[in-house]
Amino acid sequence: MKKITIAIDGHSSCGKSTMAKNLAEELGYLYVDTGAMYRAVTLYALQNGMMDSESKQIDEARLEKAIGQINIRQEQVNGKVTTFLNGTCVEEEIRQMRVSSCVSPIAALGFVRRQLVAWQQQMGEQGGVVMDGRDIGTTVFPNAELKIFVTASAKVRAQRRLLELQAKGDTSLTLEEVLKNVEERDYIDSHREVSPLVQAKDARLLDNSELTIGQQNEIVLKWAHDAIGQ
Ligand code: C5P
Repeated sequence: MKKITIAIDGHSSCGKSTMAKNLAEELGYLYVDTGAMYRAVTLYALQNGMMDSESKQIDEARLEKAIGQINIRQEQVNGKVTTFLNGTCVEEEIRQMRVSSCVSPIAALGFVRRQLVAWQQQMGEQGGVVMDGRDIGTTVFPNAELKIFVTASAKVRAQRRLLELQAKGDTSLTLEEVLKNVEERDYIDSHREVSPLVQAKDARLLDNSELTIGQQNEIVLKWAHDAIGQ
């Protein structure tokens, strides 16, 4: 059967990763979480004193010099896609608010995007991939056979994110704080100069505010089968 490329883009915390993971599993495709890659670069910058988490100041010259040497890997560990930064598992750390609040300024840097896009294109060059992010259907794989743009109301997204953080034992944040982070990232991601978050003209729109994960999976699996069958 033909192996296609599936690009899933959309707003922060709208369940893109869950959708992409389930779809990849169903089709036996590779799943790539590109947000985790931007988060890993952000963690690297924070750990190496190249970004100040308070002022959000970035030492661009040092980060640009280092970017080619950073090793980011995603692997299945106990059935879960897990991110490694220079050989160390960082899956938990990259989801913390310290990284979430710094990632969008890092992801707005042209040299960061050029490097990560090149790695992402290499990972998906054989097809048979589901990749989720903000610019997959517009920049990374503009010729993807299936493009999906996912959204949901900001409040619903913040509520889901809060529950996710609480399930991991992080009870330090309020709904307002999570909502502020979600809205801030949406704003920066949609207004940056390089590859801003926009719905590709040929992407199918899915608002999942009122959908269960099961209903969402059913819709996108049908879209995938339609695209594969063409
Ligand atoms: O998908 P996730 O919320 O983990 O992404 C974290 C951040 O990484 C986004 O808010 C965005 O700033 C950036 N990102 C991006 N392009 C992508 C994936 C993520 O700019 N393809």
